[in-house]
Amino acid sequence: MPALAPPITDLAYQECLNPVCSARFSIDETHFSCPNCGDLLDIQYDWDRAAVPADPRVFSARRGLEGNDPLNVSGVWRFRDLLPFAPAEKIVTIGEGQTLLQRADKVGEFVGLAPGGLYLQYEGMNPSGSFKDNGMTAAFTHARMVNATRVACASTGNTSAALAVFCSATDLGFRAIIFVGSGKIAYGKLAQALDHGALTIQIVGDFDDAMQRVQQVADRLGVYLMNSVNPFRLEGQKAIIYRILEALAWQVPDWIVVPGGNLGNSSAFGKAFIELVHLGLIERPPRLAVINATGARTLDELVGRRSLDWNSGLPKMDRVERYYGELDHDQVKASTIASAIEINRPVNLKKCLRALDFCQGVVSSATDQEIMDAKARVGAGGLGCEPASAAAVAGARRLVREGVIARSDRVVCILTGHQLKDPTATVAYHAADQEQFDKILGCRGVQRAGFANRPVVVANELDDIIRAIALYSGEHAANRE
Ligand SMILES: *Cc1c(COP(=O)(O)O)cnc(C)c1O
Ligand SMILES: [Zn+2]
Repeated sequence: MPALAPPITDLAYQECLNPVCSARFSIDETHFSCPNCGDLLDIQYDWDRAAVPADPRVFSARRGLEGNDPLNVSGVWRFRDLLPFAPAEKIVTIGEGQTLLQRADKVGEFVGLAPGGLYLQYEGMNPSGSFKDNGMTAAFTHARMVNATRVACASTGNTSAALAVFCSATDLGFRAIIFVGSGKIAYGKLAQALDHGALTIQIVGDFDDAMQRVQQVADRLGVYLMNSVNPFRLEGQKAIIYRILEALAWQVPDWIVVPGGNLGNSSAFGKAFIELVHLGLIERPPRLAVINATGARTLDELVGRRSLDWNSGLPKMDRVERYYGELDHDQVKASTIASAIEINRPVNLKKCLRALDFCQGVVSSATDQEIMDAKARVGAGGLGCEPASAAAVAGARRLVREGVIARSDRVVCILTGHQLKDPTATVAYHAADQEQFDKILGCRGVQRAGFANRPVVVANELDDIIRAIALYSGEHAANRE
């Protein structure tokens, strides 16, 4: 039997992110912001008393152990010593995190990298089809620790899909309440929420509106909140980094590139690297690149143009408030085909600034045209992804062109969600007639489908079909070069 992590609940505590406050709370309590000052909360550990293996190969060895212990099958809880807040018997897992880091030379060439330079981390392989499952397993575990049963989130789609699956697949009495903006959710994701039996509340408004409402409802009804303001969720999402490092034999890549929406992932990655360096499991962090969509570029604007930074834990938040005021004044709403990152008020902004600070991070944006083109290249050269994920690849390409990422660098792009999450966008790009293309993509500023793989329409006649294959297979091959 493997050595299980010791019962370590007393190692962990919640701490306010604001260094002026630094209030601490037990992990037996449920808060979604600091009760003292309203800032974000972090989960912290007394690492001196934690029994973290000195050799990270211990985590990998657990995977092959006999008996299929769910805690070893999970790509999150295999690394339980690095998020030691939960007693083993409280852990809620559905087999999340069995994902793949794949070398992708063809996509790498598109990005502008040398062979062996680009790796894609396929988080779409999670049970609900996105990386969100990594966070849900940790947040559901905490919900179970505090005996919560009604769980809620606001979502652009994938958080709600993950929440719904965790409720339906665990049989622990969890009931899902989901808030979505009207007309703002990709069909694959809405399908999941409905099919898994979640109470789905579509409000007239966008994600930022839904987010405000769900926080009010959580306050009023005492419902457990599963958005990434929940600090336990980010603990689970650290495991994406552990699996990447594991797949690279704990050799740190030069860059991690991730799309930025609510900035939970980038925040979790930064925290993972801070802790791994502190624990001596790696010597230095990689550089981090967070990619916004041009139509939802709050982070890029604030960091790139208005010099917002971590500032030792005291970012100049008046700059943020001023920018939000401008958005309101000009009635600017987030707008991008990459619906998962169609967010203008990212709740984890401060934590992301910490991650950028620790990892010498950069921020960039990708247009919807760049996102859809990159998505088509990922599909043609790999396992595929949804639009928001392709922002990472489009962003990496831009950063290579700008000379920020060197052509010889080793780069990992996080593909956050599965290709089938948003079939509407994919079909509109590849196959739609002009009218459909304009309706779905044209209004997003996508002018052309440069990498479209069009279906060939032929009469139902064998000779015509054979002629079409002869005619188009040459062209098709050329297209894919
Ligand atoms: C949630 C989500 C994102 C955004 O991640 P954040 O942690 O909110 O920045 C990106 N891509 C996909 C597919 C998502 O589901
Ligand atoms: Zn506080």
